[in-house]
Amino acid sequence: MKKSIEKNLETIRERVAAAARRANRDPRDIKLLAVSKKVPWERIKEAVACGQLLYGENYVQEARTKIPQLGQDLIWHFIGHLQSNKIKPAVELFQVIQTVDRVKLAVSLNNHLAALSRSMSVFIQINIGKEPRKAGVLPEKAEQLLRAVNELQYLRVAGLMAIPPFTADPGMARPYFRQMREMLADFMAKKLLGRHGQPELSMGMSHDFEAAIEEGATLVRVGTAIFGQRD
Ligand SMILES: *Cc1c(COP(=O)(O)O)cnc(C)c1O
Repeated sequence: MKKSIEKNLETIRERVAAAARRANRDPRDIKLLAVSKKVPWERIKEAVACGQLLYGENYVQEARTKIPQLGQDLIWHFIGHLQSNKIKPAVELFQVIQTVDRVKLAVSLNNHLAALSRSMSVFIQINIGKEPRKAGVLPEKAEQLLRAVNELQYLRVAGLMAIPPFTADPGMARPYFRQMREMLADFMAKKLLGRHGQPELSMGMSHDFEAAIEEGATLVRVGTAIFGQRD
């Protein structure tokens, strides 16, 4: 019998491909980010053995103990809330920061990178549901933030990221996914995005990644459906 992580990954990859085909998209245009927060590195290793290379973590402190155990070939995205006092280790541990949502954070990141003469891919996180307690820049402020980040020498904006309001029915998230796709198209038309290759749209989690793909996601962030329920 196959181990559960291997089976889960296989199922998710099939579901990703099927959703892509339903939307007349090439399944190879969709990246699967395995969200490994609260998963011990020994279990992440099982996913690595299945050829899964892209991972997402939410906490710098936790990532610090896990990432060094897992070898050189993996790509780590930071997807949590980044506090300014954690920027230094975050820059050392992660290849991509998906959660840039304020100018101040972008400027500090850029300063740390300048000291290392290193550039980094980032996403702009959008609070697409305008939820008061959620991270992300408000949609109406996104263009202003994007323009500011584009001016920073060591940051390369790879795309947009969002976590829509949670609903048990994934269909309810579709209007938010659609708004994200429209925002991306608008920024591309204004030549504010797409300077570093085809821009990414990071949206969709375990319960709604298929809807997200049908609405244009290029990167889905899936945790529970791969590693099981977190404690
Ligand atoms: C935890 C988390 C995920 C994964 O959520 P699941 O429901 O476990 O798939 C995706 N994105 C972000 C930003 C997260 O914090």
